[in-house]
Amino acid sequence: MSAGAGFLADLELAGRRVVVVGAGPAALAPVTALLQAHAAVTVVATDPGTTVADLADRGLLTVQPTLGASDLVGAALVVPASGDAEQDRATRALAAAHGVLAVRPAADSFAGHAEGGEVVLVGGGPGDPGLLTVAGLEAVRTADVLVCDRLAPLAVLQQVRPGAQVIDVAKIPRGAFTSQERINELLVEHGRAGRRVVRLKGGDNFVFGRGGEEWQACAAAGVPVRVIPGVSSAIAGPALAGVPLTHRQLTQGFTVVSGHLPPGDPGSTLDWPALARANTTLVILMGVATLAAIADELVASGLPADTPAVTVADAGLPSQRSVRGTVADIAGLTQQAGVRPPAITVIGAVAGFRP
Ligand code: SAH
Repeated sequence: MSAGAGFLADLELAGRRVVVVGAGPAALAPVTALLQAHAAVTVVATDPGTTVADLADRGLLTVQPTLGASDLVGAALVVPASGDAEQDRATRALAAAHGVLAVRPAADSFAGHAEGGEVVLVGGGPGDPGLLTVAGLEAVRTADVLVCDRLAPLAVLQQVRPGAQVIDVAKIPRGAFTSQERINELLVEHGRAGRRVVRLKGGDNFVFGRGGEEWQACAAAGVPVRVIPGVSSAIAGPALAGVPLTHRQLTQGFTVVSGHLPPGDPGSTLDWPALARANTTLVILMGVATLAAIADELVASGLPADTPAVTVADAGLPSQRSVRGTVADIAGLTQQAGVRPPAITVIGAVAGFRP
């Protein structure tokens, strides 16, 4: 099944073992619904997509290469979700032979529109589906094609209509990912075919989201684009951790930067000494790996070493957590805590805010 998986979250599956066969885009909506229902999820796939592999890494589900008869003993439900009709049929037959209930896959064709295709750039917010805008949710519900990746709020996929096509552009396991050129092509191809295409990203598409490039690619191809802004993790992350980005007594502004290139990297265009002097809250995205170099540079450039700092990981997700310290020790504390992306670090007086 590729869509319409919302009902899975309503079943009494807490603690029950559910086997999902398939780990590509078609599996994302059912897997998310099952995790929400607190089922014990086993995914059967030889080559899981990045998103499922990431969930397995986080210990939220297990992945195994094959499905044997013994795997079905005691299973509450089997979900055929390979995206391939033939394979899904075989899975259903195996489940039936062992008396295990299987979910019926949704139709895999999608309607499309004779004319009037468009691409809607939808900001999905930081991860909690409640932080997607009303307009964004409406666009997801009416999409023919949904192009999403790892940081998009996956729970929202349960809202896509049956038959809609979900494309996970972070599909290739670990390291590799779909190139931006290919993503642009996909948006243009489906838009030109008259389909309603939603490009669902985490946060806001225009904050380190390459939304501008996607817009340009569509404009060059004559495909209409609409933008539905999202709640950026740069703003939501601190807020969810109880850190006000501005506060009258503490600071009159904030600066959001990418930390993906460390200070001194030939590709970096940021003026770190200026940022150290700016006297605004500094919000660093994509900086988990470079945090030590960044903090050192800020202190070397004159930022007091006791300036409060906080790292917020998985903001808006059930796994959200914060690590608090100072600019001098936040990198070490963040590393000791085993924080992995996605995480943001806030440096400035507001990071020490107590209500
Ligand atoms: N367009 C996104 C940012 C994409 S860059 C937005 O507006 O939020 C990816 C970076 O965003 C991550 O490396 C991390 O720094 C940050 N990020 C995204 N989601 C996050 C979350 N839920 N919690 C903490 N940081 C997050």
